[in-house]
Amino acid sequence: MIGTRRIMDKGRPVVTRPRAEFRALDAPLSSTVRASERAGVRACESPRTRHAPLPQIAAPSAAFPRPMHRRPFLHAALGAAASALAPALPAAAASPRPARDRRTYAEIRPMNDALFADLFAAAEAPRRRWQGIVVHHSAAEYATLEGIDRYHRNHFGDPLGAEYHFVVNNGKKRPPGLVEPARWRYQELAAHLFHPERAPESLAVCLIGNFEERHVPSDMMDGLASLCRALMAELSIPLDRVTTHRAVDGRLTQCPGKHFDLADLHHRIQAT
Ligand SMILES: [Zn+2]
Repeated sequence: MIGTRRIMDKGRPVVTRPRAEFRALDAPLSSTVRASERAGVRACESPRTRHAPLPQIAAPSAAFPRPMHRRPFLHAALGAAASALAPALPAAAASPRPARDRRTYAEIRPMNDALFADLFAAAEAPRRRWQGIVVHHSAAEYATLEGIDRYHRNHFGDPLGAEYHFVVNNGKKRPPGLVEPARWRYQELAAHLFHPERAPESLAVCLIGNFEERHVPSDMMDGLASLCRALMAELSIPLDRVTTHRAVDGRLTQCPGKHFDLADLHHRIQAT
């Protein structure tokens, strides 16, 4: 879920304020909810976030100052990698409730491994000094990266779109455990926390689904663990910096849902 609004100017956040749209999303009968649910996207707010205090801008890390010169786009190869995946994906928008993808993560894993290799091969691109990974959920079972991207772009006015660096699919619209890169390609912070100062320079990973209502599919957890393991190895992120939105923002949110088991994720990361 997204907790704050960040207006970007030359790559720097200049305004952060609570989003009226988010408060509206908490009201079950609001037209905003109906419109967003029709779009297959809904923020993962708990009702308690309605009374959240004003969020704050995270101060740039003194230990890891942002580079002076950064290109707006990471690498054209990322787009090519995403395009290469497209033929393997089920036809989008053919039906609002397509048949569930029954492939196992063992079948999906080579696609993820190829994606990770492409992501990290862009060594010449400016890379932030990422310090952690925060797991979210979409709170919508049939969301897609494109839908989330469009929703965040339109409703939150962020020209970079999705406020997540990666999404992990749940098998309902796209294969279970399949990772898709989003904001990662821009190497920009995401406005994904009420208290970003508690997890500075953190990557936002969104699980597609509502894990307040159902358990996380095992294949999806394997995909998330693969992504975390790859990021941890590439970016030297320790296991204790792999956490959840709930662990960062406490009582302000239940994201990524009561059924998400962080200990299980840590176990899977260490298992192979
Ligand atoms: Zn969240």
